Amino acid sequence: MNTFFIEFRDPLFSIIIFFALVFIITFFSYWWGRYKRKEDYRHLDTFLKQFRSLPSQKELKGLITKGELPEKSWLLLAHSYYKSGDYEKSIEIYNEMLKVGDKSNYKETMFLLGRTYFRAGFLERAKNIFLEILKNNPRTPQALTYLLLVYEYMKDYNSALEVLDSLDELKKDILSDSAYIKSLAIINDIHMPINSKIENLLDIYKHTYQLTYLVYEYLFRVNPKVAWGNFNSANANLLTDVLWRLKKEDLDLDIIRQNGYLSELYTARGDVDFATKSSIFEFDVLINLKKECCASLNFEYICNNCKQVYPFGFSRCSNCHSINTQSIESILSKNYQRDFSEENNSFQ
Ligand SMILES: [Zn+2]
Repeated sequence: MNTFFIEFRDPLFSIIIFFALVFIITFFSYWWGRYKRKEDYRHLDTFLKQFRSLPSQKELKGLITKGELPEKSWLLLAHSYYKSGDYEKSIEIYNEMLKVGDKSNYKETMFLLGRTYFRAGFLERAKNIFLEILKNNPRTPQALTYLLLVYEYMKDYNSALEVLDSLDELKKDILSDSAYIKSLAIINDIHMPINSKIENLLDIYKHTYQLTYLVYEYLFRVNPKVAWGNFNSANANLLTDVLWRLKKEDLDLDIIRQNGYLSELYTARGDVDFATKSSIFEFDVLINLKKECCASLNFEYICNNCKQVYPFGFSRCSNCHSINTQSIESILSKNYQRDFSEENNSFQ
């Protein structure tokens, strides 16, 4: 029986104990390392999660009321929310600041709140805020400018013109805004006959020589003959997309033949053969490809003031609110219309 047990003083016993200890220590250090690594990940994840999820309204209220952060930090935070398009959070911060903040920046915070309401599309609330500012401080051009935009977006053109009068009294340049609001009022007037609209729009245009895109896009849409009759070929590049989309039967070949830009544009489109080449790359490619190719033009619209790019034409930039700053970029594209008609023909 004793042969199965190792003697306590046997050197073999010490060796076994030694290896057993080495095994236990290695196992525990391995396990501890894994556990620590997992804990570190978890800690980092929890830490990063704070930045992914925004504080709730209740948390915000608590934080602002405690006054642990200076007002400027809250303004910066609200502005960064505004910039990133999270208007809801920005509005919450401004509202809480107006309730609990000191009154030194009250008017400025009101203005920022009104601007955020406007950008978020809450036009009625934005209007009330700007009217509230102007009730106590009528000579605030920034609030008047935003109130003008609010009325314009609400299609309340009479109120917008009244705001322009106030801006005029403050010696602000209102020429473009006035022409723009009056033109919008004419185009959107459901009771005015089309002929009167055309007459009034041309009257405004001939007094200001602004809003070429707005006026001629409308004229070419409702009465191409009158549009060509009052067309100044020097403005052709401001209307490239409108001219490109004009129906073939609405073209005035005499005017097109006399103008280099129009000749190149309609030769590129394949309607006439008045040009053999063009200094504009897109037109030149289309002229050289002739009708065999299934290429066409697409357009994008850039604001020269703030460089914002839009997929549609505009007269007032919705980013920087400037008027008449649009430039049109032509882009070569596949002619899907031609593909579609060929596909339809193949089924016949
Ligand atoms: Zn702009």
